[in-house]
Amino acid sequence: MIEQKIVDQLIQALGKEKVITAAEDLLVLGYDSTPGLHATPDLVAYPTDSEQVQTIVQIARDHKIPFTPRGSGTGLSGGSIPINGGIVICLTKMNKILEIDEENLTATCQAGVVTLDLFDAVAAKGLFYPPDPGSQKISTLAGNVMEDAGGLRGLKYGVTRDYVMALKCVLPDGTLLSTGGKSVKDVAGYAFKDLLVGSEGTLAIITEITVKLIPPPQDKRTFLAYFDKIRTAGEAVSKIIAAKIIPSTMEIMDKATINCVEDYVKIGLPREMAALLLIEVDGHPAMVSEEAAKVEKILHEVGAAEVKVAKDAEEAAELAAARRTALSALARVSPTTLLEDATVPRSMLAETFDLIEKLAEKYQLNVGTFGHAGDGNLHPTVLCDERDADEMKRAHAFYDELYDQVLAWGGTVSGEHGIGIAKKDYLAKQIGPGGVAVMRRIKHAFDPDGLLNPGKIFTDDQV
Ligand SMILES: Cc1cc2nc3c(=O)[nH]c(=O)nc-3n(C[C@H](O)[C@H](O)[C@H](O)COP(=O)(O)OP(=O)(O)OC[C@H]3O[C@@H](n4cnc5c(N)ncnc54)[C@H](O)[C@@H]3O)c2cc1C
Repeated sequence: MIEQKIVDQLIQALGKEKVITAAEDLLVLGYDSTPGLHATPDLVAYPTDSEQVQTIVQIARDHKIPFTPRGSGTGLSGGSIPINGGIVICLTKMNKILEIDEENLTATCQAGVVTLDLFDAVAAKGLFYPPDPGSQKISTLAGNVMEDAGGLRGLKYGVTRDYVMALKCVLPDGTLLSTGGKSVKDVAGYAFKDLLVGSEGTLAIITEITVKLIPPPQDKRTFLAYFDKIRTAGEAVSKIIAAKIIPSTMEIMDKATINCVEDYVKIGLPREMAALLLIEVDGHPAMVSEEAAKVEKILHEVGAAEVKVAKDAEEAAELAAARRTALSALARVSPTTLLEDATVPRSMLAETFDLIEKLAEKYQLNVGTFGHAGDGNLHPTVLCDERDADEMKRAHAFYDELYDQVLAWGGTVSGEHGIGIAKKDYLAKQIGPGGVAVMRRIKHAFDPDGLLNPGKIFTDDQV
């Protein structure tokens, strides 16, 4: 509970409409998109510029109130949930694209710009911002930067980190820091920008972001390949990469996901198939033709049951849109959707599919798997009911065993969703007590009082 005099101070600084204290609004803003996690903030503030963020941080510091930055709340590891209550600083009203610099090929945005709005604005000027998380219609750019979000084009074009050139942020002591710039080379001092990307809102509050833009590909070809066995789909991915072809997109859906997506979007996906791959090659037209022919040949060689080429850009966009609905489509069929983010070296994909199938059977769970197969990044999703204690126990045992093997194969517990609250134990397994201790020292250097987004990534007992 925040004292009324502090609420008044915030209202005076920001204006009444930017300070939320009504219980029903606070309740909603205590969730992100991670099932089973919730904590109600005491107050939510909506700043509209960096100075207002500074003011909120200063007031929170003066009264030792924890504060947690939030974008659109599409996070899948609980990063924006205020587990100790306090103030949530929601950046969604800072949604202006400040500049598109066509000479330097950069765009500078306020933190709360929606990812797809940036894509559309630069596309209108003949430019391309590739990172495209499935949540791009809602997620904010700062949320993407803080989680280092990937997307359907990550295989060829990389993830958010690869496009961040500069950040403006408010540090936990209330000072402003600018790091990076429009120069394509910059090795002056420690690489703070790179440390901040993927820091899950635990080191600073981002207020402005400058990203790199590139020219769009001139041509592209989109395939849908269906498989009788999911293992064969995994083999196809490994063989395409081994043939030195890097498609822009190589996404997978298993049978359960195909069926849920088909129920949702009704575009005629074959319900009987064990898996499908959505593959896109893009670039110069001559290269696209050559690579498309090679991809088609490999798909037939590994034994794809059917290979379809999208007839035009509209059909290609429809297929990508269907893939983007995978999580929402799965989430419709059970009260609880537990989604994980297991990522393996691509050569281990077929084994990972086998393992998921084996563990789903062992623990008697309904599992749908989809993900960025080309990145080795899978989202095995347990469709369950959190009111069923035994089923939840089996679901957690499923993930524990899966992650033990993923780590043994040299994989990671998170390819793109971050650690947040949900995966602290798994992170400790991956990087060990030494790794956690170094991270805690970095956190302490930025935030000695531990007021910024406390309780995320690692806990005190993991020191
Ligand atoms: C349907 C669906 C599909 C998805 N698909 C993908 C996908 O393909 N790839 C992928 O990587 N992720 C995906 N996600 C996860 C999620 O969308 C991303 O992690 C996204 O980057 C979160 O953005 P957000 O604005 O919602 O951030 P939030 O969820 O609000 O916050 C995420 C983290 O960033 C911090 N944060 C937010 N704003 C700031 C700021 N201004 N300064 C400092 N810290 C801040 C928060 O404290 C929190 O730790 C998906 C989620 C959903 C629901």
